Order: sequence, then structure tokens, then C-alpha cells
Amino acid sequence: MEWCESMPKVELHAHLNGSIRDSTLLELAKDLGEKGVLVFSDFEHVILKSDRSLVEVFKLFDLIHMVTTDHTTISRITREVIEDFASENVVYIELRTTPKKNKSIGMSKRSYMEAVVDGLKSINSVDVAFMPHDVDAQSPLNSMSIDNTCNVIPRKRIYVRLLLSIDRRETTEDAMETVKLALELKDVGVVGIDLSGNPIVGEWTTFWPALQFAKENGLAITLHCGEVPNPKEIQAMLDFWPQRIGHACFFEGDNWEKLKHLNIPVEICLTSNIRTNSISSLDVHHFDDLYKANHPLVICTDDSGVFSTSVSKEYSLAASAFGLGKKEMFQLARDAIEFIFADNEIKKILNQVFDSFVTNLA
Ligand code: 5GP
Repeated sequence: MEWCESMPKVELHAHLNGSIRDSTLLELAKDLGEKGVLVFSDFEHVILKSDRSLVEVFKLFDLIHMVTTDHTTISRITREVIEDFASENVVYIELRTTPKKNKSIGMSKRSYMEAVVDGLKSINSVDVAFMPHDVDAQSPLNSMSIDNTCNVIPRKRIYVRLLLSIDRRETTEDAMETVKLALELKDVGVVGIDLSGNPIVGEWTTFWPALQFAKENGLAITLHCGEVPNPKEIQAMLDFWPQRIGHACFFEGDNWEKLKHLNIPVEICLTSNIRTNSISSLDVHHFDDLYKANHPLVICTDDSGVFSTSVSKEYSLAASAFGLGKKEMFQLARDAIEFIFADNEIKKILNQVFDSFVTNLA
């Protein structure tokens, strides 16, 4: 586990509100409980339950959104989530979130995203590079700061990019609004669009126009795909040819062959798949087949808060479940650089980060 933590890692599938710290969630819920907005004991019970079906997970998200959706809280959880990933040596993350509207508190999708960006700007315990021009090829791994006793201490650096999620409950117009917002926010590090939300809700044809518009305007796309058995939708998603897909639990026959043929990178979230019963056990997880077929893969957390996991834990789990050693895990982490949505300059920097880790090891 220790080496999984110390090596650099790339996280490409993390939902902001799903990555909230348990302690923060409980604190916020307690506050709202005291104000009479919710019954804290009911909330506590739901948070502390460890095994949830996919349907129960979405009920939990509704509860989480009740306590997190105001600008100050969104900035706070953005800051904490990035600090947590940086602390376990995630050097590049694409953090995804669904821009939300809430008229009663004057929140628009844009002001929600501004709160996320404010959260990124407020981080000072680690170096956060999130603007497209925020690159430092001279010192890509970490920088130095001086503490109050004049000691020079290295600071971790994390490169952050944002993906805007379309929730499957949304209309075509809502989805289009999110895509247009993403295009306007490219200069603060938005690089792509995700389609997520309860997989038994909504139709592919509702989201397609907005996703197609995003693609035509140069945004990269990742889709939650095959979280439930729905071969027709999986086929339509593959025909769309997104840059990456998440999960891919319920692929069969031609769709499975096509996924491999198109070589679309898959974001693998082991704990999430097991906890939501999408996959019955790791011995039958599709990671093994894809890994052996040399298919592009990246190990991710999905919702580190909701599933009580971390990127390091997911690497450790993959290593033990599929019999992979340090060298293989390091290579897997490094291979993920190729599937990021940021530009080649960032890829070059990340390669330097991985090179310097190898040098440090020697
Ligand atoms: P947010 O977008 O509010 O920052 O993060 C939470 C949201 O991400 C959830 O409400 C849901 O729409 C989406 N999400 C989180 N985990 C999953 C997952 O495992 N599957 C799907 N389809 N959506 C998810």
C-alpha cells in the first residue's frame, strides 16, 4: 500500500460531490439538522451505511446535494478534495462536477462553476496548476516554500482540469447550457464533458445533440457507459465514439468486441463497481480481460467519499486482485497520461514527473 501511495498517479474519474470528506459531510448535515432542515440521525445512518445498491447511491447523492449546494460549501469541498488527492501523490486530476442551478440562493450553473474555481484558487497547502498557461516545465514535480523557521520545504504540485457533467435527469436544453458554459470556461481549465447520473433515467437521444455540439467544438467527451444492462444504449454510445468511457460493466458480445476494436480507454472504478453490486466480485471483473488484452485502462476512484476509498487504495486493490507487481502498477499509472484531455504540453510535464520518480527510486 505504501508504494501505491508514494508513486505519482493520474485520476481521471472523480465526481466532486462524491469525493467529499465524511467529516465535512457529517459537519454540514449536523448544521442543517440544528437548523431543522433535515433530521440528522436519518442522514448519519445513510452516510455510515457501507454497502449500497446503485439506486441507494443516487438517493445518497440527493442528500449530499442538500447539504453541499451553496457557493461557499462548493468552494470548500473543491479545496478539500484537491488537497486530499494531492496528499496521496495524484499529480494530475480531471475533476468532474454537474453545474447546478438553485434560484432560491441565486445560484446559476455559471456561479456554481465560479465557486469551484474559487475553491481551486483558495488552495495554499499545495501548488495547484489549473489554468491552461499554468505550466512549469522547469520544476514539474514540486516547488519550494519557506516555513516560519526559515527551512526550505518542498511543496507538492497537482495539475487540475475540470469536466462538466450532464446529469441524465436533464433536458436537451439543460445539457446544451452546460456544454456552452464549458466552452466559455476553457480558460479556467475546463477540458471536457461527462455524461453521468442515474443510468436508469433518461434517454441517449436527449443528450446526443449537446454531446455532438461539444464534440464539434473541440471538447473531449467521456460517458458513463454500460453501468446497467442496456445493449442498445451501449451500442449508440460506442457509435458516438467518445474519447473515454467510465465503468463498462455490462458489455457483451458485439459491443465488447467493438469496445476493444475502437480501443476506447476505460476508466475502471473497482470499489464502486463492487459496492454498487454492478460486479459481483473482483475475480470476475472485466479489468482482467481488458488488462490482458492490453486495452487502454485507467484506475480511478469514482466517489472516494461515498465509497470510502482513495486512488492509492484502488491501486493496491488492483495489485492484489489481479496479481500485479510494482512495475506493472507504475506502468499502468504512467500509461494514463496518454488518455488525459489536457494538451501535449501537460503530457510532457507529467512524463517528466514519472521519469523523476524512477530516478528517485534508483
Ligand atoms: P457532482 O456532479 O454533484 O459533483 O457529483 C455527484 C454526481 O455525480 C451524482 O449526483 C451523479 O450524478 C454523478 N455520479 C457519481 N457517481 C456516479 C456513478 O457511479 N455513476 C453515475 N452514472 N453517476 C455518478
